[in-house]
Amino acid sequence: MCGIIGVSKHDEAAKVAFMGLYALQHRGEEAAGIASFDGKDIYITKNQGQVADAFDERSLASLKGYAAIGHSRYSTTGSSNIKNVQPFLAMHKGKPIAVAHNGNLTNTEELYLKLEEEGAIFQTTMDSEIFVHLLVRAKNGNLKDWMANALSQVEGAYSVVFLVGETIIGVRDPHGFRPLCLGKLNDGYILASESCALDLINAQFIRELEPGEMVVLQGDKLESHFLPTKGKARITQCIFENIYFARPDSNIFGDNVYEVRKRLGAQLAKEHPVKGADFVMAIPDSGNYAALGYAQELGIPLEVGMIRNHYIGRTFIQPSQFMRDFRVRVKLNPISAVLKGKKVIVVEDSIVRGTTSRSRIEVLRSAGAKEIHMRISCPPIKSPCFYGIDFPSKKELIASDHSVAQIAEFIKVDSLEYLSLKGMLDVMKSPGNTFCYACFTGEYPVKIPSNQSKYLLEGQKHINK
Ligand code: AMP
Repeated sequence: MCGIIGVSKHDEAAKVAFMGLYALQHRGEEAAGIASFDGKDIYITKNQGQVADAFDERSLASLKGYAAIGHSRYSTTGSSNIKNVQPFLAMHKGKPIAVAHNGNLTNTEELYLKLEEEGAIFQTTMDSEIFVHLLVRAKNGNLKDWMANALSQVEGAYSVVFLVGETIIGVRDPHGFRPLCLGKLNDGYILASESCALDLINAQFIRELEPGEMVVLQGDKLESHFLPTKGKARITQCIFENIYFARPDSNIFGDNVYEVRKRLGAQLAKEHPVKGADFVMAIPDSGNYAALGYAQELGIPLEVGMIRNHYIGRTFIQPSQFMRDFRVRVKLNPISAVLKGKKVIVVEDSIVRGTTSRSRIEVLRSAGAKEIHMRISCPPIKSPCFYGIDFPSKKELIASDHSVAQIAEFIKVDSLEYLSLKGMLDVMKSPGNTFCYACFTGEYPVKIPSNQSKYLLEGQKHINK
């Protein structure tokens, strides 16, 4: 869960990267960084916090140059350490190499052991640092062979942008787990995790990178190459990007996220209608689009039963007993006038631990809802992700050891139904077999790390719990 951006040939490349990161904020709120190059020197600024807090006018002005890469970071608490903020920058033979990465590698143990055996010293606990070590070792021939050599050694999920001198390189792994798209801005090019970043900077969307594709940008020149591993791996794009993670105004995996979510909602309505309900409502914001699709499919009114407060910021008030549900209510407040005495269908995009859903339902009940029928626009999440989505351990995933009836009891709803796996895959524009849906089935398309590994990444430590 991270956002990446690359900007080539722009007089204010770092400012463009900064604006693009704003649009990618939802992919990581913990920290942000930008590295830029002006033909002579490399500049870098990295800070904890959201994009707006991580940079100020002075730091942006100091990021000189016409090429830049940027990163917005999501991480679990254990690794929220300034050292682990990206881009990761290293010098090799007087040349700077910076990298910004989204996804989790899966063969890190093997790579760390090999590299450390050869004398490598690691400055961070980020798998992204591995890329740089492999790069400087694989250096031979031209830049594209050099990159391809290094990248053919890594396994797992990576959409990644490099800044090597003035050259920007963008790569999507051969499975295509994470999105990465290409746009044009004036004479240069932009690489971004999601197309919503291109919209914000008025860049023109060209296309998504293909799984296994490597794009080399040098000034106004663009070359496209393929990794030697392309085509050997099954394409397994992360379906959870469509369900929850990506922004609805983005186009990813050949489809528009808003439309996908509406289709998921419509399919859910076909599979699990509710008779005699007064209206459909979403748990905002993540359930909004599926709720719309659900309501339109059945011709039932869509109401807004809860209002989201957009001004929460970080709250450090420790709730006392009488403010027990402060955390829940500060974010979403129910509208009693809408809910009182009503039979309501509540649509949510997914249930992970079940704890947030349980509090939301309690709040709706206390506001007077008479019957609550919950509908979820994806199947039960039973298995953790090793490819970059930060799901908790299997033990904490409520659907891993609870039946749907038990979850309904825990959340305290009158009924609970999930979208079927087939229904979910059927509404995707790309064929179902080009997605990774291991979180629903536990069938991992790429070998996951051993639970004995000393080198598990932050996002993979749930394996041991
Ligand atoms: P809960 O009822 O506690 O499982 O929370 C459900 C809400 O959290 C839904 O809106 C989910 O989409 C959202 N969510 C999505 N991804 C995650 C995640 N990786 N960890 C925690 N919650 C998530």
